[in-house]
Amino acid sequence: MKIVDVRGIPLTWRSPNPYMSAAGAQAGRSAVLVEIETDGGIVGLGEAGLGGGAPVVTQTVVERLLKPMLLGQDPLLIERHWQTMFERSRAGGRRGVVMHAISGVDMALWDIAGKVAGLPLYRLFGAYADTLEVYASGGFYQEGKDVRALVAEAESYVAQGFGGMKMKIGRNPSTQTHLRGLLAMTEKCVVTPEEDLARVEAVRKALGPHRKLMVDINCVWSPALAIAMGKALEPFDLTWIEEPVATDDIDGSAAVAAALHTPIAGYETEVGLYGFRELITRRAVDIVQPDLAWTGGFSEGRRIAALAHAHNMMVAPHAFGSAVLLVASLHFAASIPNALVVELDRNENPLREALLKEPLTIERGMVALPTRPGLGIELDRAVVDRYRVD
Ligand SMILES: [Mg+2]
Repeated sequence: MKIVDVRGIPLTWRSPNPYMSAAGAQAGRSAVLVEIETDGGIVGLGEAGLGGGAPVVTQTVVERLLKPMLLGQDPLLIERHWQTMFERSRAGGRRGVVMHAISGVDMALWDIAGKVAGLPLYRLFGAYADTLEVYASGGFYQEGKDVRALVAEAESYVAQGFGGMKMKIGRNPSTQTHLRGLLAMTEKCVVTPEEDLARVEAVRKALGPHRKLMVDINCVWSPALAIAMGKALEPFDLTWIEEPVATDDIDGSAAVAAALHTPIAGYETEVGLYGFRELITRRAVDIVQPDLAWTGGFSEGRRIAALAHAHNMMVAPHAFGSAVLLVASLHFAASIPNALVVELDRNENPLREALLKEPLTIERGMVALPTRPGLGIELDRAVVDRYRVD
């Protein structure tokens, strides 16, 4: 079997109602799907990250940088291809958009392997579980969204049976770093730390004492502010505080983790085994959160999970893309012994909700893994065409 084509498919959906984290604003959603075609007729599917930029950027790296390394090759030499892509792009790669592109290719190669083996991917990897807990990822800032609206959102997750939710905090007038002036839509939805604490208190009340509640700061706080806020948040019994400080401030994150009882989770914005090695071995995190579409796909994600396991840490995959990344994240989590819970983005996004011919069934906060070979999903081509932007 040989690889005969490698394609990036850029998709974009524009939202009329942007929503915000501490660091960014989402005026819609994009994704870059990767398809790898073989001469045997099997087509592998993956998703590459885009880091907030235009999806055509990642598409170009897939098709102009990586595709020439793959054409004519045996698709099942996955480890060989991963290392080749990483080493030959070392000067301009290692992280960022090149790692995002490698991630999508790796995912598509594994999808081919699953289809050849006739096994769902998580079973090909050696399954640990057939069902997984997912948490409702939402609680964003939005213009006109007050505490009452946030509480109503939390109550809707309770009514749907979710065992937990995540919300955004940290969109504060000062983050005690240089970042505040640089971030998207700085002038909007600026809330005080005291208002954030009141938002968390209200959501905790709505969820009751036993459901998981997580908060996400998206890297904006200084370590000192993170420690002060983390101590003020301790009474709300958070399952984790996510990305409290800058991704590269590993010592700062380790100081925050050491100062708080609440576990520190992160960093989706870090990628690759070498990046996560620093976070894990220096105890900058308690819970490890790689994003499969950013961090190097299944191959690198599974290495990161093993390193986390060696340090007695749980893994909670970040998944904030299309349905392809969500399903890939489920296969990943169901195949490792130390998966804690998987992110289920609840923001409006047709690239997640409408892209699959057969949507995932999620009931009472639990999801069953697909049973067909590979990722076990099929794209709705009409939906792909509707959002395609190349
Ligand atoms: Mg996050």
